[in-house]
Amino acid sequence: MQGRWREVSPCDPIDLPQNKLEPQFINYAATHGFLCRFNTEFVSFTESHTNGTVDVTVKDTVFQQTFKIRCKFLFGADGARSRIVNQLGLPLTKDQGGGLAWSILVKADLAHLMDSRKGSLHWIYQHDVGHPDWGWIGFPRTVNEWDEWLIIFLPVPGYKMITPPSTDEWMKRINQFIGDDSVKVEILDVAKWQINEIYANQYSKGRIFCLGDAVHRHPPANGLGSNTCIQDAFNLAWKISYVLKGKLQVSFHEDVILTFLVHQELREWNCWTRTTQRDSLSAERLSNGKLDFHCRTRQMF
Ligand SMILES: Cc1cc2nc3c(=O)[nH]c(=O)nc-3n(C[C@H](O)[C@H](O)[C@H](O)COP(=O)(O)OP(=O)(O)OC[C@H]3O[C@@H](n4cnc5c(N)ncnc54)[C@H](O)[C@@H]3O)c2cc1C
Repeated sequence: MQGRWREVSPCDPIDLPQNKLEPQFINYAATHGFLCRFNTEFVSFTESHTNGTVDVTVKDTVFQQTFKIRCKFLFGADGARSRIVNQLGLPLTKDQGGGLAWSILVKADLAHLMDSRKGSLHWIYQHDVGHPDWGWIGFPRTVNEWDEWLIIFLPVPGYKMITPPSTDEWMKRINQFIGDDSVKVEILDVAKWQINEIYANQYSKGRIFCLGDAVHRHPPANGLGSNTCIQDAFNLAWKISYVLKGKLQVSFHEDVILTFLVHQELREWNCWTRTTQRDSLSAERLSNGKLDFHCRTRQMF
């Protein structure tokens, strides 16, 4: 697997599950001049067009105190249930989505099964084994080589849950997947989630910019979730940094930030069509979208 990545990418591949990647980001940010506030909840914001500021109300959840932070810009990276997107009232386009999925975090030492088939992500479809409707196919993904795994289970199409599977049922299905009864399995967590296909038609208003899952949620194929979120942050950060450092004329600011939006939204279409295999539509959508998005984003300023 790594061999293929190396062939097609100019970068060295590294595979880090999010529980290992995110502490790296926080560590870097906290030691490079960023104030990282934990236990602090965004409540609401008020934008002042006259002052060119945004007053953000936040709540310290330990001391239960509410206070305000005055900012030049506010970035809404608060995930799929974004309050910032909600307050801004950004319009969302929702596609059909992929229905229900389960993530089961397990402790199970599978090192001996990796000898001949090393891979951080495996597809498992056992056509010769009877399956329950709630657990048709699945994707074990390494969290810690090779003794901790997150197994994503997909039910059969059209499945409607009446009662969630019991721990014994999960155990049985996981053992079927592993196919080796001598492996000791411990279930650490069971989470149910929806495969979303949602994006905001507009990413910002005034001095508030939204990014990441707050404005686009992808099906898991292609691993576009975190990747696109990180690209959003990188793209927005260098452009805002140029504005703050005064490297751009005031009259030019809007255009530079505007390009963030246009690129972002076009890239979104691109990823979107890739994820959902609608390649035939993408060229037409991109060329039409370019004009549409350009016009739409221009109206924001
Ligand atoms: C089961 C599963 C598997 C996935 N696998 C992959 C994968 O293999 N590859 C991939 O690239 N992506 C994957 N993704 C997608 C990826 O996890 C997301 O796209 C990514 O984490 C989104 O990052 P984000 O920073 O935009 O949002 P989040 O990671 O959701 O972060 C938002 C943060 O904002 C905080 N927050 C929310 N509301 C408030 C508030 N009011 N005040 C203060 N803080 C708030 C939340 O606590 C959270 O810390 C997967 C997602 C799921 C569910």
